[in-house]
Amino acid sequence: MTQEIILLEASERDAWICLCGNEPQSDGFYPCDKTGNEMEPVTGWSGLYVCYRCGRIINQDSLAVVGRNLDFKKLK
Ligand SMILES: [Zn+2]
Repeated sequence: MTQEIILLEASERDAWICLCGNEPQSDGFYPCDKTGNEMEPVTGWSGLYVCYRCGRIINQDSLAVVGRNLDFKKLK
Protein backbone atom coordinates (compact mmCIF):
# COMPACT_ATOMS: atom_id res chain seq x y z
CA MET A 1 0.00 0.00 0.00
CA THR A 2 1.38 3.38 -0.93
CA GLN A 3 1.57 6.06 1.69
CA GLU A 4 -1.29 8.49 1.44
CA ILE A 5 -0.69 12.11 2.31
CA ILE A 6 -3.43 14.67 2.47
CA LEU A 7 -3.20 17.99 0.73
CA LEU A 8 -2.41 21.27 2.36
CA GLU A 9 -3.89 24.30 0.72
CA ALA A 10 -1.48 27.20 1.12
CA SER A 11 0.73 26.73 4.13
CA GLU A 12 -1.88 27.11 6.77
CA ARG A 13 -2.45 24.49 9.36
CA ASP A 14 -6.19 24.83 9.06
CA ALA A 15 -6.26 24.43 5.29
CA TRP A 16 -6.23 20.66 5.14
CA ILE A 17 -7.96 18.88 2.31
CA CYS A 18 -8.50 15.19 2.86
CA LEU A 19 -8.29 12.66 0.06
CA CYS A 20 -12.06 12.37 0.34
CA GLY A 21 -12.46 16.10 -0.28
CA ASN A 22 -13.29 17.03 3.29
CA GLU A 23 -12.04 20.40 4.48
CA PRO A 24 -12.05 22.11 7.86
CA GLN A 25 -14.97 24.24 6.74
CA SER A 26 -17.12 21.25 5.90
CA ASP A 27 -17.03 18.13 8.07
CA GLY A 28 -13.68 19.01 9.58
CA PHE A 29 -10.93 17.17 11.41
CA TYR A 30 -10.78 16.38 15.09
CA PRO A 31 -8.10 15.15 17.51
CA CYS A 32 -8.21 11.39 17.88
CA ASP A 33 -6.32 8.48 19.37
CA LYS A 34 -4.34 5.88 17.44
CA THR A 35 -7.47 3.95 16.55
CA GLY A 36 -9.26 6.99 15.18
CA ASN A 37 -11.65 7.60 18.03
CA GLU A 38 -12.10 11.28 18.77
CA MET A 39 -10.52 12.52 21.99
CA GLU A 40 -9.70 15.77 23.71
CA PRO A 41 -6.15 16.88 22.84
CA VAL A 42 -4.90 16.33 26.36
CA THR A 43 -1.60 14.99 27.68
CA GLY A 44 -0.79 11.76 25.93
CA TRP A 45 -2.45 12.76 22.71
CA SER A 46 -0.20 11.70 19.85
CA GLY A 47 -1.01 14.52 17.46
CA LEU A 48 -3.42 12.59 15.30
CA TYR A 49 -6.57 13.88 13.69
CA VAL A 50 -9.47 11.95 12.26
CA CYS A 51 -11.31 13.07 9.16
CA TYR A 52 -14.93 13.37 10.13
CA ARG A 53 -16.10 12.32 6.71
CA CYS A 54 -14.05 9.27 5.79
CA GLY A 55 -12.33 8.24 9.04
CA ARG A 56 -8.79 8.59 7.78
CA ILE A 57 -6.36 9.12 10.64
CA ILE A 58 -3.90 11.90 9.90
CA ASN A 59 -0.59 12.80 11.52
CA GLN A 60 -0.63 16.56 11.98
CA ASP A 61 3.12 16.95 11.48
CA SER A 62 3.67 14.90 8.34
CA LEU A 63 0.07 15.02 7.06
CA ALA A 64 0.48 11.32 6.37
CA VAL A 65 -2.54 9.07 6.57
CA VAL A 66 -1.60 6.56 9.25
CA GLY A 67 -4.78 4.55 9.28
CA ARG A 68 -8.48 4.55 8.77
CA ASN A 69 -11.42 3.83 10.98
CA LEU A 70 -14.77 4.05 9.29
CA ASP A 71 -16.56 3.40 12.55
CA PHE A 72 -14.70 5.87 14.76
CA LYS A 73 -16.29 7.25 17.89
CA LYS A 74 -17.28 10.90 18.02
CA LEU A 75 -17.34 12.95 21.17
CA LYS A 76 -20.45 14.86 20.18
ZN1 LIG B 1 -11.45 12.23 4.62
